[in-house]
Amino acid sequence: MAAACPIGRRATAHPMTHRRTSLFRKNPAAWAVALVIVLAACAAPPAVPAALPAAVPSAVLATLIPEFSATLDLALSPPLPVATPSPQPTLTLAERGLTCATPRSLMLHSAFGGERAADLADAILARGYEAMTYRDVLAGLERGECPPENAIIVSLDDLNTRWNRQEFYDIIAAFQARDLPLVLAVVAHDVTRDAIWETYREWSAAGFEIASHSANHLQFSALSEESLVDEIQGSYRVICRGLGLCPVTLILPFGDGLGDPRVLEIGADYVFHIGISGGQAFGGQPPFQLGRIPPDNDDQDLTLDLLDGTFGVGGN
Ligand SMILES: [Zn+2]
Repeated sequence: MAAACPIGRRATAHPMTHRRTSLFRKNPAAWAVALVIVLAACAAPPAVPAALPAAVPSAVLATLIPEFSATLDLALSPPLPVATPSPQPTLTLAERGLTCATPRSLMLHSAFGGERAADLADAILARGYEAMTYRDVLAGLERGECPPENAIIVSLDDLNTRWNRQEFYDIIAAFQARDLPLVLAVVAHDVTRDAIWETYREWSAAGFEIASHSANHLQFSALSEESLVDEIQGSYRVICRGLGLCPVTLILPFGDGLGDPRVLEIGADYVFHIGISGGQAFGGQPPFQLGRIPPDNDDQDLTLDLLDGTFGVGGN
């Protein structure tokens, strides 16, 4: 009959433990023989397995084998929530030794209308500028790259989670028809319509970025800390839930509060804080503070000239 494997059994249940102790004490070679027998028994499969052993919980393995715990943490993580948390740059720009020039950044409102938007989009294409979103900028930072010199970010402000006026759709359609993305700054109140999120999800899938423009479009500098939390973190959660993808960009209402320490701290879940003036370069650690300018209303070539003059071609 094959020897039974003693490993894992209670020591007191094993016959070798008491009666043969003196033999081993007198004859160390017997230890070696016994060890070989035990190892052979343990290596052999059990003759008649009573039942399949239960899987060892990975938490237990992690404590037994500390070097595996990092891997096992993945298995222990709870399932992903419906909303995918947006990535933060794995290293700060300071650690990478990067200071980036802010790309040409333009702020539009619905009054700009579809016709001007079409002119603007044509002018962007004619100059060979690369339209991108802040989320695209983040993807570049993750690779250790600043935005390209010919980059331009066009954002459209004041959409909401209940109803959007026709001009928004016209502007978006003008850009979409030319395969250019926009950043859509959504006032994300928690009273929402499901149908509108379907539209936002479609735009997001098409490369448009859905950014937070706060919950109620209030002047940040006039708000208490508690209200700032509602505006900044509340709108973040509304977008996470509605879009299934958390925002990376907070577009400040009226451009107010850029660099305010309270806003930086409460808005730390965002990678980018966008104002109206300032922010022509960014570095250090997120949230990064970037500026924008409004367009010229008559001449979209002039709008691009204004952008070149403000942000510099190639920056610093
Ligand atoms: Zn606004």
